[in-house]
Amino acid sequence: MNERDSETAAALLSARGYRICNDELDADIIIFNTCSVRDQAERKAVGKIGIIKKIKREKTALIIGVMGCMAQRRGEELFKELPHLDFILGTDQLHSIAEIVDEIVKNRRKLVADAQNSSFPDSIDTHMAVETGDFSAYIAVMRGCNRFCSYCIVPYVRGREKSRLMDDIVKEARLLAEKGIKEIMLLGQNVAAYGHDGMPPPKSMSEGDSPFGELLAAVSEIEGIKRIRFTSPHPAYFNDALINAIVSLPKVCKSVHLPLQSGSDSILKAMNRPYTAERFYEIASKLRSLCPDITFSTDVIVGFPGETEEDFIATRELMNKVGFENAFIFKYSPRSGTASAKMNDDVPQELKEARNKILLEDLSKRAAESNRKLVGETVEVLVEGPSKRNVERWSGHTDSKRLAVFDNPGNLKVGDFVQVKVTRASSSTIFGDIL
Ligand code: SAH
Ligand code: SF4
Repeated sequence: MNERDSETAAALLSARGYRICNDELDADIIIFNTCSVRDQAERKAVGKIGIIKKIKREKTALIIGVMGCMAQRRGEELFKELPHLDFILGTDQLHSIAEIVDEIVKNRRKLVADAQNSSFPDSIDTHMAVETGDFSAYIAVMRGCNRFCSYCIVPYVRGREKSRLMDDIVKEARLLAEKGIKEIMLLGQNVAAYGHDGMPPPKSMSEGDSPFGELLAAVSEIEGIKRIRFTSPHPAYFNDALINAIVSLPKVCKSVHLPLQSGSDSILKAMNRPYTAERFYEIASKLRSLCPDITFSTDVIVGFPGETEEDFIATRELMNKVGFENAFIFKYSPRSGTASAKMNDDVPQELKEARNKILLEDLSKRAAESNRKLVGETVEVLVEGPSKRNVERWSGHTDSKRLAVFDNPGNLKVGDFVQVKVTRASSSTIFGDIL
């Protein structure tokens, strides 16, 4: 979501006549987009903004701004810690970034725009991806979150859920397709709650329809769009209607991010996650029984208050049982204002680190094993350009989000689909030859 917001800011400023440059030393205006999910993310942002102070000493006309969740959370108070900042732009004010920058350029005054704004425009459909000749684009389909997981700052800095109209989203996707975009990532802080209008999630798998499933079907109708991904869905919204949409729509990638957080029922309860480990497993099993090739990724928090060795083992076992190919493992970080910040952060840092390491090692082993199974098989890859590690070779991702590296016979273009015969594999990459 932050990447999409950065892109939106860049697109709005570029439409106003500002030019986006690649090196901060060339810039007349530097804007930091920030995250508040963990304390470390905020500390990094403050550190980096602090370093820029040196540049401003020599280049006094330099304008420095901060946007995103930290700007929303801390507001004007940030000027105390970072007096060289020129503006602070909250999450609900992103649409006015160009006017704010104009105002500072003209009048050279400090500005804070952090009011919560429930009439935030439904759609800011400007994209940089098109100008840069990219093959893939993000579309924000909803904003905000009503779930209030006990550890999470998101509902406080991003406000309540608000979904965009399906017609607007489809129109945006169609325009992107006409400009050459092949892959769409549908985004939302609680994306599977799209169209729920804040209603609670279904109580059982067989209950209710799925507006998000309907959105997946509508975007699938667009001819030029070849792949559809989405993030981040809360498992409680996975009913049969959504599961059927995911497995039956060929353009929806069969790699699903399904945030687990914990495999222990008592920790899930303390986290205010309204599902049990059994229900989570049922969702994953149903998806896999209908689509055996599906892969899963997840988010897990280790060291939540009160997490015992047994709780951790339950998480580890469930992760192994579901067989996640990839995961973001987070060490619990108390965020002030959230419900869990009042709980005792009693798992020592070393134990959080040790648990984190164990889960990462499990994952790496599993990913190596499942990649190895592909040796000798042929996979379809969407070409992304020269490989980051070795520019002599090219790379792209498979439908199931595996990174593939291969030689460019000379005529490959970004956005092509190629068939790659896998010749070898590591835990992070598969290597092969184009057929
Ligand atoms: N909406 C998504 C998550 C958004 S935040 C969902 O419900 O899955 C991204 C991830 O950050 C979360 O899934 C969680 O694993 C992690 N996270 C959020 N708050 C955290 C905290 N206080 N400490 C550590 N990790 C946290
Ligand atoms: Fe945070 Fe996701 Fe929970 Fe919303 S659903 S409160 S964004 S972890």
